[in-house]
Amino acid sequence: MAKHDNVTSIQALQTWKAIPEQHREKLVRNVFCGKCGGAVEIVDYSIKKEKHGLLLRGKCRTCSGPVARVVENE
Ligand SMILES: [Zn+2]
Repeated sequence: MAKHDNVTSIQALQTWKAIPEQHREKLVRNVFCGKCGGAVEIVDYSIKKEKHGLLLRGKCRTCSGPVARVVENE
C-alpha cells in the first residue's frame, strides 16, 4: 500500500489532547503486550480516530514489539 498508515490526524490528536494528561499517562503506561505477557508502556505511537474511540498503535517499550490499544469514548 502506498498510503502511509501510521500517521496521527489532527482530529485524533485533538481528541487525545482533550483527555486529561494524568489519564493519558495512565493509558500509555498500561498497554497489553502479548510478548511480555503484561502491561507495558507504548512508545512511538500514532493515534487514529475510530468509530468507538481512539486507536493507539506503537511499540512496546520493553521488547519493541508492536502493541496497540483502544481508548473508548467516554
Ligand atoms: Zn513487550
